[in-house]
Amino acid sequence: MIFDNPRILIVDDEKMNLKVLADLLKDEYVPVLARNGDQAIQHALSETPPDLILLDVIMPQMGGYEVIKYLKNNDKTKNIPVIFVTALSSIEDEEFGLRLGAVDYITKPFSPPIVKIRIRNHLRIIHQYKLLDQLAHLDGLTEICNRRRFEEEFKKEWERSLRSGSPFSLAMIDVDYFKQYNDHYGHAMGDLALQRIAKALSDVLRRPADFIARYGGEEFVMLMPETDHEGAMQVARYSLKKIADLNIVHHHSRAADYVTVSIGLSTIHPAIASSHKTFLATADQNLYRAKEGGRNRVVGSVIRGETVLPLSA
Ligand SMILES: [Mg+2]
Repeated sequence: MIFDNPRILIVDDEKMNLKVLADLLKDEYVPVLARNGDQAIQHALSETPPDLILLDVIMPQMGGYEVIKYLKNNDKTKNIPVIFVTALSSIEDEEFGLRLGAVDYITKPFSPPIVKIRIRNHLRIIHQYKLLDQLAHLDGLTEICNRRRFEEEFKKEWERSLRSGSPFSLAMIDVDYFKQYNDHYGHAMGDLALQRIAKALSDVLRRPADFIARYGGEEFVMLMPETDHEGAMQVARYSLKKIADLNIVHHHSRAADYVTVSIGLSTIHPAIASSHKTFLATADQNLYRAKEGGRNRVVGSVIRGETVLPLSA
């Protein structure tokens, strides 16, 4: 699923070499061709970057060594594995290429079956790495993203809204009287409740940039980029409804006779306001106020410049 059609970028200044490699790989992979270093970098930076790069060393203008240095110095491209395919066949050349960060070094003339096997091996390693990486960012119980993944996403979206200047909303969501739920119904039921809540909250979010993670324990966090306060309040109120609709019986809650959540919301205009920490802390304070105010409710505010304007609902 991650690797349905691996794309392999073949970079060589000689047309014949491109053709030979493309013919060799086209039955199993999607070959993408580049005649020079500039084209190679453009492909690597594109929306559909290659899964692996076969890179010639000697090319006019920008050679393979320069190309790999560029790729390894760029966050977007540094994890794409590069295999040198070159006529430079001395031990020193090979060592130099590998030191620059290539995962393998194949000398021309090459044996086609060996090239295929090496490519397959490297793709298998990347595939396993990606699976592990995915698992490392999922919460084991609820199978939504975990806190570590949230931290990354939050940073990315924060920087994006700083650039775009568009409003950004964040919701902290906490299950009401969850300790009492666990105490009376048992931890197995508590786990089940968290799974159902995570699923319901995920279903509330519709836009591709919206994001939800388990923040810890019975707490969840939602990121809503390019969403103003009004829009975020709608999402939050709808979340309250979706959790109520689950109708998870909770006779030991003082908020209702079913499981409910409290939500603290903050909306910020990052172009004029200060830090992402204030943003998160404000949502957290609002969550506290929602709890204090009786739970099963949303409290939100808008941060403008340094001022926090309270807006409750
Ligand atoms: Mg060449």
